[in-house]
Amino acid sequence: MRAQPKASHYVGGSYLESQTGTPFDSFYPATGEVIARVHTADDAVIESAISAARTGQEVWAAMPPAERGRILRKAADILREKNRELSVLETLDTGKPLQETLIADAASGADCLEYYGGLAATLTGEHIDLGGSFAYTKREPLGICFGIGAWNYPIQIACWKAAPALVCGNAMIFKPSEVTPLSALKFAEALTEAGLPDGVYNVIQGFGDVGARMVAHPDIAKVSLTGSVPTGAKVASLAGEHLKKTTLELGGKSPLIIFDDADVENAISAAINANFYSTGQICSNGTRVFVHKAIKEQFLSRLAERTSSAVLGDPLDEATNIGPLVSRQQFDKVLSYMQIGQDEGARLVCGGGSAQVDSFPEGYFVQPTVFADVRDNMRIAREEIFGPVLSVLDFGDEDEVVARANDTEFGLAAGVFTKDIQRAHRVIGKLEAGTCWINTYNLTPIEMPFGGYKKSGIGRENGHAAIEYYSQIKSIYVEMDGVEAAF
Ligand code: NAD
Repeated sequence: MRAQPKASHYVGGSYLESQTGTPFDSFYPATGEVIARVHTADDAVIESAISAARTGQEVWAAMPPAERGRILRKAADILREKNRELSVLETLDTGKPLQETLIADAASGADCLEYYGGLAATLTGEHIDLGGSFAYTKREPLGICFGIGAWNYPIQIACWKAAPALVCGNAMIFKPSEVTPLSALKFAEALTEAGLPDGVYNVIQGFGDVGARMVAHPDIAKVSLTGSVPTGAKVASLAGEHLKKTTLELGGKSPLIIFDDADVENAISAAINANFYSTGQICSNGTRVFVHKAIKEQFLSRLAERTSSAVLGDPLDEATNIGPLVSRQQFDKVLSYMQIGQDEGARLVCGGGSAQVDSFPEGYFVQPTVFADVRDNMRIAREEIFGPVLSVLDFGDEDEVVARANDTEFGLAAGVFTKDIQRAHRVIGKLEAGTCWINTYNLTPIEMPFGGYKKSGIGRENGHAAIEYYSQIKSIYVEMDGVEAAF
């Protein structure tokens, strides 16, 4: 097994094996090859992780913030030094092409560690003048945070949760998705190598039941989940029962609106990035592409032409643009939506089924697919598919397209293409989405808060905003005079 880790879990600064955990395999989606076998966390592992995190957090929170920042920045350097090795591992675990993982996974994790490492020494409270007496505030950690990952950006998600949590003085226990259990362990190794005290960052493996046990654990102060809306509802309800703080980064069905004055080639580039990058397995994807009637046919013919030039194939070949879907389950789900689109009467412009790739007969490859003449009530326009299925819907009027774009339970992201500066800001102002782009799509620099409106989530990751979700404010009133009492 070519990616077998030293052990399943990482607790207290070293690898740890479960004695009674259930074994499960990680597969290379291009071939179906088993690349690693790990075990779910049993009670002993969970309790070891909690105890290590408790000890580690005390040491960590007592360190000067500038020193904490230095360790995070060192970890960023280590991820960059090991970028190729980590990218190959991520490609094996997810099937995403190396062309992408080399720039978008460990590298974006490193950006995140560097950013929060830089913020470390700037996190301060305030002084409040009360006329003689005064108050001040302190920003304090929450304690032990529990992170739950999805499988599409495993190491990036691990970093997006760990860096802001750690910079605020918390410890973290992270459960990667059972589909992609490997890179979080390598990230934990990098943190230890950078000088992170033992126990501050721990990784445990498991399915949803391990996640739920941790959410309910009395020593967990906060839960941060990246996953689907149904899982988010379960986690929120369990966390609510125990009154835990939560951040939820969930799914979407985001609109990308292209007006008739847009630069069409750029808009097509954005639609490609918004639907086919990572084989369409991105939460913020702009899967409902609203194209103005006046440019629709021009848009569709160029989109089909450019899509036909995409290179599907060996994910480890850097020339490959599109790899397989992550799993058999995802493969079956995406194919079923390709069929549903045709059954619903959408016009198939290109793709529409599985793809045969030489030398990879067992791979979960599907064709990048474009549907046109999609109507708002079709399932392919309403439900998150999480695969390379792009739906083009046409429109004629600004108010109409805004209303239709907002007619969804999701609100993760949105994009607008137009050269009219006032229209761009006016439309973005009306869209019910947490993360928006004007004249581009799906860029998520760490400096910019990321998260959803409506059912797409609660809270924000990235930017200064994430600090609010990993710290609590203590207000302290200081009396400079006597104390009056009624009797
Ligand atoms: P999922 O909801 O199936 O699983 C996510 C994680 O939750 C996994 O680690 C899983 O083990 C865990 N889990 C499942 N049930 C649980 C429970 N009851 N309690 C605690 N944990 C539980 O999602 P997925 O299939 O891994 O990922 C795809 C989904 O994630 C898509 O909907 C996508 O939009 C979303 N996503 C969102 C973002 C974002 O930032 N908004 C980013 C990536 C993916």
